[in-house]
Amino acid sequence: MKARTHDLAAITGLTIVVIVVSPLPPLHLATILVALLANQLGGIAPDIDQPTAPFWRNLPIGGVFGRFIGKMLGGHRFLTHSLVGVAFMAFLVHWLLAVLQPIMPHVQIDYVWWAFMIGMLSHLVMDSFTKEGVPWLLPIPIKFGFPPIRKFRITTGKGIESFIVEPVLIVLLIAICTVYYHVLVELFHNRIVG
Ligand SMILES: [Zn+2]
Repeated sequence: MKARTHDLAAITGLTIVVIVVSPLPPLHLATILVALLANQLGGIAPDIDQPTAPFWRNLPIGGVFGRFIGKMLGGHRFLTHSLVGVAFMAFLVHWLLAVLQPIMPHVQIDYVWWAFMIGMLSHLVMDSFTKEGVPWLLPIPIKFGFPPIRKFRITTGKGIESFIVEPVLIVLLIAICTVYYHVLVELFHNRIVG
């Protein structure tokens, strides 16, 4: 799926989880902002195995790097699109956040980590709706998709994604935010400390 669809799915997934687990303990505003950024990065992170991914497109020699990393990761929709890849990223991101903690003392890194992981998992879920499917259980080399019959799934970048999937995600996100507005306001209102 396209990066924009993944961004939307990541923030929708995060909003749902926040509402389900609320009330959250007091959070710093810095935590909320960094968590939102991490969530969006998590939403597109699995596509670093693609030379044309947004990560790489924005770097000067990103295309070359992207091809190299893509090969190392086994090509598109391979390692980064599996539970093994999710577990690896979970460790990597946790380590990175721990390293960065001293320069962002107000950020509660556990929440940032969760936001990233929710974004990453939403990516795999969304890609499962596409024709290519997702190799969830690598090293078992089977790509899973939903619905199981391939021809009923979505083709990436085609009309259905732009004209149905994206609008549905936008409407869903707005509906959730409207219905659970009080939960989200509380998150930003009373609960920010320091
Ligand atoms: Zn992907």
